[in-house]
Amino acid sequence: MSYRSTRSSEQQSVSFEEAIITGLATDGGLFIPAEIPKLDDSFLKEWSQLSFQELAFKIMRLYIKESEISDDELKSLIIKSYSTFRSKDVTPLVPIDSNKNLYLLELFHGPTYAFKDVALQFVGNLFEFFLTRKNAAKKEGEPRDIITVVGATSGDTGSAAIYGLRNKKDVSVFILYPTGRVSPLQERQMTTVLDDNIHTLSVNGTFDDCQDLVKKVFGDKEFNDKYHVGAVNSINWARILAQMTYYFYAYFQLLKQLPESERSSFKVKFIVPSGNFGDILAGFYAKEMGLPVEELVVATNENDILDRFLHSGKYDKAQVKETYSPAMDICVSSNFERFLWYMIKRTSGSNDNLRTGEILSQYMRDLASNGVFEVSPETLKLAQGSLDSSRVSNEDTVKTIREIYTKTSNHYILDPHTAVGVATALRKIASDGNDLNLKYISLSTAHPAKFSEVVNQALSEFEGYSFEKDVLPDELKKLSSMQTKIKLVEQVDLKVVESLIVSELEKEGKK
Ligand SMILES: *Cc1c(COP(=O)(O)O)cnc(C)c1O
Repeated sequence: MSYRSTRSSEQQSVSFEEAIITGLATDGGLFIPAEIPKLDDSFLKEWSQLSFQELAFKIMRLYIKESEISDDELKSLIIKSYSTFRSKDVTPLVPIDSNKNLYLLELFHGPTYAFKDVALQFVGNLFEFFLTRKNAAKKEGEPRDIITVVGATSGDTGSAAIYGLRNKKDVSVFILYPTGRVSPLQERQMTTVLDDNIHTLSVNGTFDDCQDLVKKVFGDKEFNDKYHVGAVNSINWARILAQMTYYFYAYFQLLKQLPESERSSFKVKFIVPSGNFGDILAGFYAKEMGLPVEELVVATNENDILDRFLHSGKYDKAQVKETYSPAMDICVSSNFERFLWYMIKRTSGSNDNLRTGEILSQYMRDLASNGVFEVSPETLKLAQGSLDSSRVSNEDTVKTIREIYTKTSNHYILDPHTAVGVATALRKIASDGNDLNLKYISLSTAHPAKFSEVVNQALSEFEGYSFEKDVLPDELKKLSSMQTKIKLVEQVDLKVVESLIVSELEKEGKK
């Protein structure tokens, strides 16, 4: 499989390795596979008993040439990546309301207790694999290839990237976060990783300041050439690829859990709490490959650009609001461009890749200059046929955490991101008229312990509820007594950050 840019005429055929290592195409577009592999119906039978890891191998094999990564190498990358998960199923499917046929797909059993681990554990191993291979081919005395990953975080992404890349050869990581503005638990998760190649920079500024600094580091060509600055952000194709597995695995787990009599007639809808559109995009690819998915539903918080687009055809950038589900606080959804590419290609009349890229490039220019673009009525109609959506307010988020806690016999506790999904699922169940053939799988993207404030706000009124006892896992309790490693950045200043990066790289012996 080769990859192409969503925009250009330049990059029409790049290797998987290049797509992963460079992340973004030279024309600013995102990489997509040359085609989407189609499965024939026999896969439903043949794959139904596979483990998560075996299924990941089958799927990834379709997207990565054997000449780039052999079967044995790919298998061992996958096994290593998911050995860090606490659940044997990696992403277990849990029924929470058998009457309504509502299930949660728990994606938070990785090292940082959030769904980003599913992709970033794999991406870290993949980076290391590519670098090790490149460096092994070097002659003595030639400088080694290194990657210096630089990123900004307001919480979840930083710790998932750190745990994905800790202790990886030839990779160094610098994560910037605003001092005092990430939750104490999330800060601890990042700063208690003491590996030599991990550096957390607490910046005396806001999250926007941190993002700005990172953008400037990327824009400094001389620095970039010297230190090979890289990113592991949500547009990296390897993240989307790794996330496809759990849609297939959820389907097969559901099949096993259903009584025999229901197995031939059920239909499944996936509900996905969305921000940058990476999680649900993997579901779109799974469906396109042939997984029988009845519907994909985008659940947004009050940052609802996707929901507004699907109603109006206008992709209209708004100010970011701070909500109870901060990992979904975005003003544009960066992966949406990939989805849109398919929608445009199928409705532009020509079915032509380059023409599609041109239309999309124009939209992106409109977005950059006017903060908005509008697609054709045909494109909108096709998009509406592929995705449903719903917007959930802060108030409904809290209400849903309470409702599920009260209604489940084991007092199941949702994190606020997951609650946005479940609130949407409950609305769908009602509007679909409680059809018992329909099964709803809502993706659970974080452990509630990571968002104590909102969870406590929802549940502290219940007698017998205790955060320490009912929510906080022992492993996270321990963080508060562990040693930390933090570098303070007193000034929001590019030169200060760059010289700090250089001095830390020197200490690591990388220059
Ligand atoms: C990142 C994240 C999301 C949003 O996923 P996207 O792929 O950006 O749509 C939802 N919930 C949690 C907890 C996250 O960390």
